[in-house]
Order: sequence, then C-alpha cells, then structure tokens
Amino acid sequence: MKKIQIAIDGPSGAGKSTMAKMVSKELGILYLDTGAMYRAVALKAIQSGIDTKDSDKLSQMVQDIDISVVYQDGRQLVYLDGEDVSERIRTPDVTVGASNVAVVPVVRMKMVELQQEIAKKNSVVMDGRDIGTYVLPDADVKIFLTASVEDRAKRRYEELQEKGTLKQTFEEVKQDMEYRDNNDSNRDFCPLKKADDAIMLDTTGFPLEKSVGMILDIIKARI
Ligand code: C5P
Repeated sequence: MKKIQIAIDGPSGAGKSTMAKMVSKELGILYLDTGAMYRAVALKAIQSGIDTKDSDKLSQMVQDIDISVVYQDGRQLVYLDGEDVSERIRTPDVTVGASNVAVVPVVRMKMVELQQEIAKKNSVVMDGRDIGTYVLPDADVKIFLTASVEDRAKRRYEELQEKGTLKQTFEEVKQDMEYRDNNDSNRDFCPLKKADDAIMLDTTGFPLEKSVGMILDIIKARI
C-alpha cells in the first residue's frame, strides 16, 4: 500500500506539533517530531562537554550516535544511546543547543537519513523546518505554519507553564525564540523555508484548533 507523507514546517511555537498530533490521530498514521532528534544531538554534546557550535567535534560525535524513536501509548519517546531522554531534551539549554547543532551539515544529513528511513516504512506526518523542502520533497501534502513571534512566544510560555516546566521569564522565552528563528532561517544548509508547493497558514491572533478542521479537509482531499 502506498505510504502517506504529510510535511508540516514552520518556526518554533507556530503550533506544528499540536497540528501534527491531531492529523496523526485523525488519519491513524505515525507522528514524527524531528526536532526531538536535533535536541537529542544537543543533549549528547552538552553531556560530553562539546560546545554545540563546534562543528568539527559535532561532526565526529554524530558518526556513532544512536538515536531512536519508539512509540508508547501513542506518545513518541526519544532514546539516546539506549536511554529514554524524552523529558531531558526539553530544557532551555538543550533547546538553544538544538538550534546550534542543526546548523552543522553532517548532523543534518545523519538526522535526515533516520527520518527518511522511518518514512520509507510508515505513513507519517512529520514536523520540522526542512521536511517539505528537503526530507520529504514529494510529500502528498505540505503545510507551512507561522505566527508572529509575540504570539509564538506567548503560546510556548503558556505551554511550559501548563506542563509545570517553566524556568524562564516571558522575555527569555521570546529571546530564545528570536535566536532560533534567526539561526534556522539563515543557515546555509537546509534553512527554514516554505516549500513552493506548501499551503501557508498564519495563525496569528487565533487558536490553532480553529484551523485544524480546515487543514484536515485539505489533507483528506489530497490523499
Ligand atoms: O521543533 P523543535 O523546537 O523541537 O526543534 C529544535 C531545533 O531543532 C529547532 O530550533 C531547529 O533549529 C532544529 N530543527 C531543524 N530541523 C528540523 C527540526 C528541528 O533544524 N527538521
């Protein structure tokens, strides 16, 4: 049976994971959070005392890194060298570190290889920055989600607050987001960019849930 591929890209906090989870549930296909993989690379670097901007050491480090994704009760868990790091990859230093390691081409190639491997075996909805442009260029549906930085920082702040893992002020959350936006959009290799054939959705000022129904109709009409 033909595998379904749905790509959801956009900047941090645009609502990609909320949207991807809903799509995955509705269509009964796998959800792959690709950002979690870059976060696992950053965690390994931090744990090994490697600067997340040191491209030479990072390129070496990822040669034998063991990152795997498993699903438990519909939830994605990320394993790094055999250990479940799903919670540990959500700290502010790993968040900023992930954006640094994601600039390094060798790191990206390794992660893309893993992502494409998963898409070969499963129907998937993947969220990230380069899914529609690079990882799954022939995806059946591509969505590019965005919103103002103010709105995205507010959503991220509230999300962390709800989870009970908030460790920063609103200004700090916003500053990290601006730093990552800049890194992600201006790197040379696979920058964050809307694919020409992606559907653009700006969710500034309205709840994401509002647009999910509309997006699901678009997806269902195309697959
Ligand atoms: O999506 P999330 O915020 O967890 O991603 C963490 C970081 O990983 C992002 O800031 C981005 O730099 C990087 N990333 C990427 N390409 C992807 C997914 C994430 O460069 N496909």
